[in-house]
Amino acid sequence: MRIGVYPGTFDPITLGHLSIVRRGAKLVDRMVIGVTTNPSKSPMFTLDERLAMVERETVALGADIRVVSFNSLLMDFADREHATLILRGLRAVADFEYEYQMAGMNQQLNDRVETVFLMADAALQPIASKLVKEIALFGGDIHRFVTPRVRDEVLVKVAARRES
Ligand code: ADP
Repeated sequence: MRIGVYPGTFDPITLGHLSIVRRGAKLVDRMVIGVTTNPSKSPMFTLDERLAMVERETVALGADIRVVSFNSLLMDFADREHATLILRGLRAVADFEYEYQMAGMNQQLNDRVETVFLMADAALQPIASKLVKEIALFGGDIHRFVTPRVRDEVLVKVAARRES
């Protein structure tokens, strides 16, 4: 059974992420989506909120997908999950340098695991969680970038920030 892990912050999960999940699911028998705690990014959503959101948004895809949190070296996470592939999405040139470096170093840490890069559907490629949050905080409409339920959840967070 071929297992792939797809790691990320998913703060929040976007249509870009979902496109990668849909495409990646074709390459593996099981996908394990690893939601990082990543406190250094001071996320808008708590880890539990992100786990629930990713689980809810991916269940409809009907693939064998597990959603778990992780807070360790990616390669240790991949080993723990018996994965032989790491799935990453590539947006633009900006992603490339970081991803290239990380894949190269990960290869040296653990040569049993291959990193595979995927592109989202063309229209969804520019989407980044960070920009979705910024647009929402400035009152812009994010419906093209996230599902309706994620949009509602972002709007609740934005309203809470305005009140505090
Ligand atoms: P972000 O970089 O938006 O904060 P994550 O850390 O959650 O997102 O990203 C997890 C993975 O998904 C990374 O490999 C990232 O490059 C990829 N990804 C995110 N958005 C897109 C997109 N619109 N198209 C392709 N890949 C994406």
